[in-house]
Amino acid sequence: MNKSIIGAREDFPILKVKVHEHDLVYLDNAATTQKPQVVIDAITNYYKTINSNIHRGNHTLSMLATEAHEKARQNIANYINVAHPYEVIFTRGTTESINLVAFSFGEAFVKPGDEIIVSQLEHHSNFVPWQLMCQRKGGVLKMIPFDDNGDLDLAVFKEMLSERTRLVAVNHISNSLGTINPLPDIIAMAHAAGAAVLVDAAQSVHHIEHDVRALDADFYAFSSHKMYGPTGIGVLYGKESWLEKLPPYQSGGEMIDSVSLEHTTYNQLPFKFEAGTPHIEGPIGLSTAIDYLKEFDSLQLRAYEEDLLDYGVERLTSIPGLTLYGNPKKRSSILPFNIQGIQHYDLGSLLDAFGIAVRTGQHCTQPIMDRLGIPGNVRASLALYNSKADIDALIDGIMRARKILRK
Ligand code: PMP
Repeated sequence: MNKSIIGAREDFPILKVKVHEHDLVYLDNAATTQKPQVVIDAITNYYKTINSNIHRGNHTLSMLATEAHEKARQNIANYINVAHPYEVIFTRGTTESINLVAFSFGEAFVKPGDEIIVSQLEHHSNFVPWQLMCQRKGGVLKMIPFDDNGDLDLAVFKEMLSERTRLVAVNHISNSLGTINPLPDIIAMAHAAGAAVLVDAAQSVHHIEHDVRALDADFYAFSSHKMYGPTGIGVLYGKESWLEKLPPYQSGGEMIDSVSLEHTTYNQLPFKFEAGTPHIEGPIGLSTAIDYLKEFDSLQLRAYEEDLLDYGVERLTSIPGLTLYGNPKKRSSILPFNIQGIQHYDLGSLLDAFGIAVRTGQHCTQPIMDRLGIPGNVRASLALYNSKADIDALIDGIMRARKILRK
């Protein structure tokens, strides 16, 4: 029997806190999600019962901690349907995963004049690492533009691809507009041109399909904290054939096989890319978050989130003077807007005073804001514990803020 989405809010203790004496309405989920009690318990229990350094020890606690850590890797690997668990590398998050590939792929495969393609919908974390790598290696960075609806222009992308294209880096869902990008098309086009593809799945892995083999992604990056798991831990999936060819990103303990003054050889996958003592309890927390997500029927969960998004779009667009940004063919979980005559920051501060948490600013997507011709906006973003009552509270908050600001 699947878990009911109605009532899921009860699983998240923080949602009971008061903010400025109001019930918390948490709508900043694209920045980070809250954690269910089971995840908090998993981390606490780890420290209470098996905390120890892993992979090297031969005492009981070390072996138990190693087993729990590697079991978590297997569970995470299953969730994204990888062929081998050693294709799952633990990092600090999406940003570090992308930096790893940008560095190591750049070292191995990018020569002066080679091209990397990103999209105009990328978070700075999937933009700047490629820019830096291109500067270092003499590569050329190109950008797929988006149209007035917030959809990527695939005709321009097609023209951009050439035998010089080494890699295409694109998100599955834009954190700023909510666009669900047509990854199967993008990946097929890139592969036909001989280019590898990195998918930034930070906003998608917990909302929509997340089967890396069905997508045929070469690299796939996401963060635990955006999918109900702890902060400080994330994943880089890479196809074995690529990971074997990439040089290490960081060096030190754990990632070595043998060391001498003359020569060092590296450990096998995934440890070659996991230098130093890892975030031992992080994957255990993330794996527990995945178990929590799996308690729901995935189709029902998706339908619930889509219905909530549609309700948000409908209610927000009924407010006179409100601009909802983007109208992509497919959208997920993100509601970015401005109200005529009101600074986004002022609106965000007033909403906070009513206990409503939203994000204001550029959301680390300056190329998007430049294209929209705005300095920033207000972003409400949804998670499974949100309800129509939260959207109603947001709408009431906006109306009250307007009155206060007399707009
Ligand atoms: N990419 C996207 C699409 C994001 O939304 C975010 C976080 N806002 C990131 C990358 C960076 O994630 P992290 O800060 O967890 O590394």
